[in-house]
Amino acid sequence: MRFDVLTLFPEIIESYCGVSIMKRAKEGEVFSLNTVNPRDYTEDKHKKVDDTPYGGGAGMVLMPQPYVDAYDSVEKLENSITVMLSPQGEPLNEKLVIDLAQYSQIIMLCGHYEGFDERIRDIIKPKEISVGDFVLTGGELPALCLIDAVSRKLNGTLGRRESAEDDSFSNGLLEYPHYTKPRDFRGYKVPEVLLNGNHKDINEFRFNQQLERTKIKRPDLYEKYIKKADL
Ligand code: SAM
Repeated sequence: MRFDVLTLFPEIIESYCGVSIMKRAKEGEVFSLNTVNPRDYTEDKHKKVDDTPYGGGAGMVLMPQPYVDAYDSVEKLENSITVMLSPQGEPLNEKLVIDLAQYSQIIMLCGHYEGFDERIRDIIKPKEISVGDFVLTGGELPALCLIDAVSRKLNGTLGRRESAEDDSFSNGLLEYPHYTKPRDFRGYKVPEVLLNGNHKDINEFRFNQQLERTKIKRPDLYEKYIKKADL
């Protein structure tokens, strides 16, 4: 997998991918990361990348020339997809993450300020993806959500200590609760069933916990699960 990120703030992307599991995956060549700064492609002598909106209104709009030229400079692999991070996009979820992990390259466009000149969409025709119905200052955090979630699906990112096997959403339910040492913390005890070594009982307990907490926290997911499982 190769991630190419068009951003005015490459240090945000590089810094997150330079620590912990992302760093190890990058160094282990599970994925490669390339950041491209549209400011390096502007033809404006003051390195301007944004300007006031035609028709008036607040905020600055990202100009098409630096973004489209920066995009053209990126080498496109055969199995590549281009994504624009945008609050107007398709909501990012587990299914979309799995779909994206099938590509060999994801090129991401991060906006800032008021957002993109519409012609960037017209010319590049990206898939627009949102991380939720709220507005952030820039596309860097959403791009990192995507990089992080997709890379968890790639062989080699997660070691033995970080399995995603039972993660929330993997079977349509939220994950069961976890406990570690000590057995008793301020009077809150680890459920007895987890201490008896009976894997059948443990699995049953965990599955019931998954059902219960999904029903309470995410009734929408619960309904879907029940319907599908015909329970
Ligand atoms: N004016 C735009 C609108 O209302 O649709 C919002 C622009 S926002 C301040 C600046 C940039 O942050 C966007 O171009 C996008 O790249 C990113 N962004 C903000 N919220 C986002 C979200 N929920 N999902 C994905 N990207 C987002």
